[in-house]
Amino acid sequence: MNDVIIVGAGVVGCSIARELSRYELDVLVLEGKEDVASGASKANSAIVHAGFDAEPGSNKAKYNVRGNEMFEQTCRELHVPFIRNTSLVVAFSDEELPNLQKLLDRGIQNGVKGLRIIDRDELRALEPNVSKEAVAALLAPTGGICCPYDLTFRTAENAAANGVKFLFNKPVKTVKPEDGFWTLVTENGETFQTRAVVNASGVSSAFLNNQVSATKYNIQPRRGEYVMLDKSEKDCFKATMFQCPGPMGKGVLVSPTVDGTIIVGPTSEDIESPDATETTAFGLDKMRRLSTRIWTEIPFRKAITTFSGIRAHETTKHDFVLGEAPDAPGFFNALGVESPGLTSAPAIGVDLAQEVATKLGAKKKETFSDDVSDWQRVRELSPDELNKLIEKDPRYGRIICRCETISEAEIRASIRCRVGATTIDGIKRRTRATMGRCQGGFCTPRLIEILADELGVPQEQITKAGGESLMVLSRLFPEDK
Ligand SMILES: Cc1cc2nc3c(=O)[nH]c(=O)nc-3n(C[C@H](O)[C@H](O)[C@H](O)COP(=O)(O)OP(=O)(O)OC[C@H]3O[C@@H](n4cnc5c(N)ncnc54)[C@H](O)[C@@H]3O)c2cc1C
Repeated sequence: MNDVIIVGAGVVGCSIARELSRYELDVLVLEGKEDVASGASKANSAIVHAGFDAEPGSNKAKYNVRGNEMFEQTCRELHVPFIRNTSLVVAFSDEELPNLQKLLDRGIQNGVKGLRIIDRDELRALEPNVSKEAVAALLAPTGGICCPYDLTFRTAENAAANGVKFLFNKPVKTVKPEDGFWTLVTENGETFQTRAVVNASGVSSAFLNNQVSATKYNIQPRRGEYVMLDKSEKDCFKATMFQCPGPMGKGVLVSPTVDGTIIVGPTSEDIESPDATETTAFGLDKMRRLSTRIWTEIPFRKAITTFSGIRAHETTKHDFVLGEAPDAPGFFNALGVESPGLTSAPAIGVDLAQEVATKLGAKKKETFSDDVSDWQRVRELSPDELNKLIEKDPRYGRIICRCETISEAEIRASIRCRVGATTIDGIKRRTRATMGRCQGGFCTPRLIEILADELGVPQEQITKAGGESLMVLSRLFPEDK
């Protein structure tokens, strides 16, 4: 019997797991897919929001502002890149100015520091590429950017270093209270028992809650589509550029990423299937039209990829549902955690873990490991440092991903760590291999070889992202191994 089972290994589930690992508790994470960060946490805008957008008094407002304040320290502890690059919300006409003022007032109510409205001249001095139509902007110096999947993965690694167990490909189908404990059954019929459940299952969170509580929720999957531009465009904007909400909705954003690319998006479209992560001609066309409001000459010819993420929009409360279900003792929700959920995750982790630990009467551990299984990154080293490293381990000298300069040693480390990669996408999100301009055209065959070698399986069993997504279907010459 476990003390706590967390369902879902997104950034929220992993943050709760890491905070729970500070207590004397047996914690297990059950993830339905093949890896951490397989849901919204792998495909979002990566913005650490300042907190001027959420309704004052809501969970979204409270956790956004607290989470934002925690980001420096959290990212330092986990060795994850984070930049406070400033957010700018741009108004394109005098009619939009009252909306900027509303955001400013709301931000002040939420406790966001340093907000101010800047005029056209100051805006153009800060961001020379902004559209000539821009008349003013709300400036939020606490706005930032991070890498969402790196954050999720390193949070999981650190939780694992402190005793949390992770099991993948375990989609939980039913949750039932028994005499003082909970029984969870997966789609493949495996049974797990636990004293407490934390439901951090993103788009499935209402499905699990509604099995155990009379307070029902509804999650509407809402897709957001993006285009990513090549690193050659990285100096076009320093800040994250939002559009002032107006008659055309919230618009889309243009933002640098911590890796030096530029993202443009997301759209917002209610869809039926929570798994429909494809991009569409309709969505990308809409994104293209909206984004030119901010950046008139946006160079879409520099696009290196498109992607989409699915928001878990809760349609009854329109807020994060956090904490123990009122009529299901020992069942805790982190339900409907849509944006600003990435920003809020560190703060949600602290509060939910404390609530669960108090319920179970658990004490804090005396020691806590700060290990996050980090490795050397060739692209960050000077030639001298690299030469010394290659002397110790020649695999640092074999570059597998040429676009992102990722060595064989880094790829092997990403597979060997505690919550190691088991798929090509798992390597990608841990190292950035395949994320550059050629999008894996060059390195994918080498990644398949290395992954098969590390896992001790034939290449025909290697998948892109688990399930049926096989990379090699068969061999022309079966005898040729
Ligand atoms: C388009 C888009 C843009 C966004 N932009 C931002 C932003 O810029 N800033 C910000 O702060 N937030 C942003 N967000 C929100 C943020 O991404 C989410 O709030 C956050 O990732 C939610 O994390 P999570 O762990 O709750 O959910 P997820 O990351 O979705 O994780 C849930 C996990 O549960 C698993 N699961 C589901 N059902 C089951 C089951 N039955 N059994 C076992 N496992 C299960 C899933 O496979 C998944 O891995 C954005 C979201 C989207 C979609």
